[in-house]
Amino acid sequence: MSHIFPRHTRQLPPRAVSGEGCYLIDETGKRYLDASGGAAVSCLGHGDPEIIGAIKAQLDDLAFAHTGFFTSQPAEELADLLIANAPKGLDRVYLVSGGSEAAEAAIKLARQYWVEKGEPQRGKVIARKQSYHGNTIGALSAGGNEWRRAQFGPLLLDMSHIDACYEYRLRLDGESLEDYGRRAADALEAEILRLGPETVMAFMAEPVVGATAGALTPAPGYFRRIREICDTYGVLLILDEVMCGMGRTGTLFACEQDGVSPDIACIAKGLGAGYQPIGAMLCTGEIYDAVATGSGFFQHGHTYMGHPTAAAAGRAVVGAILERGLLPRVTAQGEKLAERLTDRFGQHPHVGDLRGRGLFRGIELVRDRETKDPFDPSQGVAGKIKKAAFEAGLICYPMAGTIDGRRGDHVLLAPPFIIEDTQLDELVDKLEPAIDAAT
Ligand code: PLP
Repeated sequence: MSHIFPRHTRQLPPRAVSGEGCYLIDETGKRYLDASGGAAVSCLGHGDPEIIGAIKAQLDDLAFAHTGFFTSQPAEELADLLIANAPKGLDRVYLVSGGSEAAEAAIKLARQYWVEKGEPQRGKVIARKQSYHGNTIGALSAGGNEWRRAQFGPLLLDMSHIDACYEYRLRLDGESLEDYGRRAADALEAEILRLGPETVMAFMAEPVVGATAGALTPAPGYFRRIREICDTYGVLLILDEVMCGMGRTGTLFACEQDGVSPDIACIAKGLGAGYQPIGAMLCTGEIYDAVATGSGFFQHGHTYMGHPTAAAAGRAVVGAILERGLLPRVTAQGEKLAERLTDRFGQHPHVGDLRGRGLFRGIELVRDRETKDPFDPSQGVAGKIKKAAFEAGLICYPMAGTIDGRRGDHVLLAPPFIIEDTQLDELVDKLEPAIDAAT
């Protein structure tokens, strides 16, 4: 018996031994279509020779040099590549090892910015109920997933949570999508005023919500209004693109499609495409300058930040996304996936909503389509779908989310950008019986 501490302790999962394009293969030779890229990570699929080659070449030159002493060429080049393709205003890149680290760094940088600016009373963060920003204490405090937060309550920081823009559940009868988007965004203004604008340092949100609500897309105009509110009260806008960024929705950054630029952005997952653990926090020149001309030191760091081998992987991955025509491909394949999901599940008695952008798609499951009542958590619908799909050779990402303080089930799909039409067919062919069996 192995001494490994697996995530799920009741049953040791199968041992993965190789990966080939959109498939993962276990030690028995069983092939799994990776329709969620793990958790929206493997955007280029598995076994990409160019990315592997870039990592090997970097290892031959230099595997690691601590950022307390050195910078490195791949880290600098990755930063330049990201900024050349980032939303307007973002100017600096702080490289870390994953999404939680990026979110944690973003929260701390926002705080330090206000301290450097001489407004130390700004210490409050507003985030959203349907959100996930990571599993470290700061990021978990910002996230709104009740199930993930529950047992850590006493350790969490006091942050406010407004509802995400959640049309399926929160738009009123007769209300236009635009009006709903405005109303949803105005909840931020109300919360800023309730807390006292001079005390609020940042608002944090995922442009397209991933793990807590299954590819929840914002209403048109929602983020423009959010940007306006943040500007009015001097609140920093942190956009967490850890899951939805790096091309997942058809543009390198999801917020490009909402016409807004954040003050701070977080990316990870698709940045390393699973070939190396890497994440990044991007910030505006103004925020960077406040630190640079102030204390001259960001009071936060991790041993593996700016890791040269990880940066070489990130540089190769971003280059591949941009140069292989993958962004338009995500849009095209995403539409095909959406069509297939509508064909299979549009009338399904337990599918309440189908949504998403690009190759980032969500299926919200309900006990009753009319009342939109979720399944009772004791039924463990998400877990049953995951198990049935996995047995059939399909990796998807079913999860329990947060609906009005209750749990609800949904399935998240985030396949590699290289997915072929026949593999989209295979995906829905395997997913349908898994959902039927679990509901
Ligand atoms: N932010 C978002 C939006 C995420 O979806 C995740 C992970 O799912 C994280 C942050 C945390 O990233 P990681 O698991 O790499 O720490």
